[in-house]
Amino acid sequence: MLSVVPSPVIVRAPSKVNLHLGVGDLREDGYHELTSVFQALSLSDDVRVSDADELSVEVHGEDARAVPTDHRNLVWQAAELLAEHAGRRPDVAISIRKGIPVAGGMAGGSADAAATLVALDALWELGLDRAELVEFAARLGSDVPFSLHGATALGTGRGEQLLPVLSRNTFHWVLALAKGGLSTPTVFRELDRLRADGNPPRLGGAEDLMHALASGDAATLAPLLGNDLQPAALSLAPGLRRTLRAGTNAGALAGIVSGSGPTCAFLCADAEAAVAVGAELAGAGVCRTVRIAHGPVPGARVITHETEH
Ligand code: ATP
Repeated sequence: MLSVVPSPVIVRAPSKVNLHLGVGDLREDGYHELTSVFQALSLSDDVRVSDADELSVEVHGEDARAVPTDHRNLVWQAAELLAEHAGRRPDVAISIRKGIPVAGGMAGGSADAAATLVALDALWELGLDRAELVEFAARLGSDVPFSLHGATALGTGRGEQLLPVLSRNTFHWVLALAKGGLSTPTVFRELDRLRADGNPPRLGGAEDLMHALASGDAATLAPLLGNDLQPAALSLAPGLRRTLRAGTNAGALAGIVSGSGPTCAFLCADAEAAVAVGAELAGAGVCRTVRIAHGPVPGARVITHETEH
């Protein structure tokens, strides 16, 4: 009998770079007030869900061994959350193909969580609207709503309240992936420590950066990129200073630590420049590996429907 249930469902979700990450003071609830301009990049994870007898998670790709395959994985939590909403058991096999570095400051886990929400909405034919998906996403983590949204957006609160930002043109990036990862809470704690000891520089508003995005000019955008977490990431991983220097020496317009790091993101003038910068960085011995990416790209979206007969 022809079934309309599309199993498996494959969803692709983008990584992100924070073009501007302003970190306010610690709130009473333990979170920091953030002002973040996110851009979704083509470096992405694919998440495949299919019907199964019980919930399981497997992870493939370079960093797969660093990712838990039990309830600690955000995709597991996403499946349980949606199953509870749907009043059913979360009996699905979830397979993640990682392209996004693990604990790299590029929201890899959030991407997978967003992908799982979109995939299960399709697999279980829940017909959730955008607002409902965003609500589930926000419950799973601060960056998950952006992984759903994609493109370029301004995030406030813990980063989860999003407004679209006009961005003209495609921007070209080189990503320098580091050997280890950095834990996001550790980097925030290090920033609190640096702020208690002294006065590391703080970013101003993001208005000029948003004008530059609307103009679509990479050279105008480059000097406006900024990340309040960068001093903390550099304090924990001092070797990243060399990586940042090597990228600009290789011809990038600017380099920043991506989110909580340790991935460094380099904005380049165009696609050709990105390939040249990537090649030089790869040979400079300042990172584990190099990836070329572009943005903005869409948020988590179904890429293949296989129809079961
Ligand atoms: P962010 O930029 O959102 O702060 P990140 O990109 O630095 O996050 P992630 O790759 O999301 O970091 O992973 C952080 C930790 O979360 C990992 O060390 C891992 O133990 C755990 N984790 C849970 N689910 C996943 C997942 N699906 N993919 C990767 N890591 C996951």
